[in-house]
Amino acid sequence: MPSSPLIDRRHLDFMLYELLGVENLLLYPRFAEHNRETFDAAIELAHRVALEKFLPHNRKSDLNEPQMVDGKVVMIPEIEEALIAFNEAGFMAVLADYADGGMQLPFVIATACDALFSAANPGTIAYPALARAAANLLQVYGSDEQKRLYMKPILEGRYFGTMCLSEPQAGSSLADIKTQAEPQADGSYRISGAKMWISAGDHEFGQNIVHLVLARIAGATPGVRGISLFIVPRWRVAPDGTRGARNDVTLAGLNHKMGQRGSVNTFLKFGEGGDCAGYLVGEPHQGLAYMFHMMNEERIGVGLGAVQQGCAGYLYSLQYARERRQGRHPDQKDPNASPIALIDHADVRRMLLQQKCYVEGAQVLGLYAAQLVDRNLDPDPAVRNDSALLLDLLTPIIKAWSSDWCLKANELAIQILGGYGYTREYPVEQNYRDNRINPIHEGTNGIQALDLLGRKAMMQNGAAVKILLERIDATCAQAIAVEELAALAAQLQAGIAIAGECTAAAGKRMAAGQVRQTLANAQHYMTVLGHLCIAWTWLWQALVAQRALPNATGGDVDFYRGKLQACRFFFATELPAIEHAARLVREVDSTAFDMRAEWF
Ligand SMILES: Cc1cc2nc3c(=O)[nH]c(=O)nc-3n(C[C@H](O)[C@H](O)[C@H](O)COP(=O)(O)OP(=O)(O)OC[C@H]3O[C@@H](n4cnc5c(N)ncnc54)[C@H](O)[C@@H]3O)c2cc1C
Repeated sequence: MPSSPLIDRRHLDFMLYELLGVENLLLYPRFAEHNRETFDAAIELAHRVALEKFLPHNRKSDLNEPQMVDGKVVMIPEIEEALIAFNEAGFMAVLADYADGGMQLPFVIATACDALFSAANPGTIAYPALARAAANLLQVYGSDEQKRLYMKPILEGRYFGTMCLSEPQAGSSLADIKTQAEPQADGSYRISGAKMWISAGDHEFGQNIVHLVLARIAGATPGVRGISLFIVPRWRVAPDGTRGARNDVTLAGLNHKMGQRGSVNTFLKFGEGGDCAGYLVGEPHQGLAYMFHMMNEERIGVGLGAVQQGCAGYLYSLQYARERRQGRHPDQKDPNASPIALIDHADVRRMLLQQKCYVEGAQVLGLYAAQLVDRNLDPDPAVRNDSALLLDLLTPIIKAWSSDWCLKANELAIQILGGYGYTREYPVEQNYRDNRINPIHEGTNGIQALDLLGRKAMMQNGAAVKILLERIDATCAQAIAVEELAALAAQLQAGIAIAGECTAAAGKRMAAGQVRQTLANAQHYMTVLGHLCIAWTWLWQALVAQRALPNATGGDVDFYRGKLQACRFFFATELPAIEHAARLVREVDSTAFDMRAEWF
């Protein structure tokens, strides 16, 4: 099997240090006490805990999904053991200040650490990931008291957290949520309603669960402007921080999932007994805006989680293709000749290259976006502004492109294993099932595409797209001066022009009132920008590899050559898809739009 089943460590170092230059972050005072050794130590620690505590029960939790017994969730003990190890290793507070017992690491390094846990066991990592995102939201919008009573215990690993948005009748359309919040004389609210699909919604880990619940204050305006955000603890908490009585939140049932079965998924009822206490976060009616803080973090997490499942399948199928011998070359007729390894068949190499391109390209894009979060600390307001805009634009791409194409990578991994890939004796079918949720939750990929074209590409008159295209062009300008890469750079420059034209054309159509018809092609627009971004990551990787090759020795020579060849492969076989997709957007293809329900 590969040196690590979780990630190619050489590729991780390449991304962090040769491509992204994360050591530049050491210039920010917040990270001044760090250095490459402390970054590497955190990654090594995450790698070890992931291998020792998360990976071993990945299969077991798939085969033994959570059960509801006498109203309580019962799970295999290994999940709790992993969560304790995660916390003891300091990863709950990986981003928190030193003063609060945190590691104070850059977001990009924390994201790299998370990727390892996610590759090892996407079900188990869901518990701390949700809890940490809840704590981060409270850090920004919570009152001092809320931080003390709810955020701090999460960062200490004592409390867990959830995000409670969806309801049975309101998934994609949060404007239609019905959960109510009635003001009480003591300043709290009485919450009543039902929340569906809540991940980590009920369990016996830790001392409490902090549900972050979207609800409407009685009399609020309809739609998203009438939604507020509430802390609803599973157990009430006294002002001195001690745990009080059970709050009126009940587990109404469990959802039985296709994959990621270790993360319990729940149907929760709030206030069935008329006594569910909730505490308003921030201002009334700002709930969705606050929740986006958590959702955006989760969307990058979902995108990178999808990449890591793709990565796990890729690494497994790569090793398998090296070891299994089957068949001969098409022009080799001698039946006495020894069978060749699968990897010696060009079609198998095609499937491996596709996986490599999707996975390693999306990993670069995801970590690039994570570093944009750290740029929030830059002293230059222009850098902060551009980084925030670009992050906004890239978030739906990272969530949706990665989860669509790295799921495709899982399919290819199964294909490489042939019949064995289709059986439960090999891990690649679980990788696929575990990954299949990622195009659905945190806003379906259809909704992400609408967000990308309808909002993000159009915001501030297309300012974010402009920044993105300029950055891609800057890489092209460097690559065009390198003989081996000049043609690829020219191809990507043509892609920039295509993306720019189709964005402008879509903007004009929408401004002219053709909103529905234009957005009917949002998925094609996602292909245009998504493929363009991934091609960018590949040209960038190829540029660094080409420059490093003359002085490379040992395994690095093959590593860099592999980068160059994967770049050529993506440009030859995948990037041309943007021309067709851009034409559909530009010309406002109306075939799906014009189809009538009764014609099916
Ligand atoms: C395993 C799992 C974990 C989850 N965890 C959580 C959680 O922790 N907290 C939480 O709040 N929610 C959670 N969810 C809910 C998840 O976010 C929703 O399932 C998702 O938002 C889609 O909502 P829905 O299931 O109601 O589907 P629907 O909204 O009914 O959508 C069905 C299909 O219609 C499409 N569609 C819907 N509206 C539009 C539109 N306006 N334009 C174009 N197409 C549209 C969608 O893209 C989708 O393909 C989870 C779901 C699952 C399955």
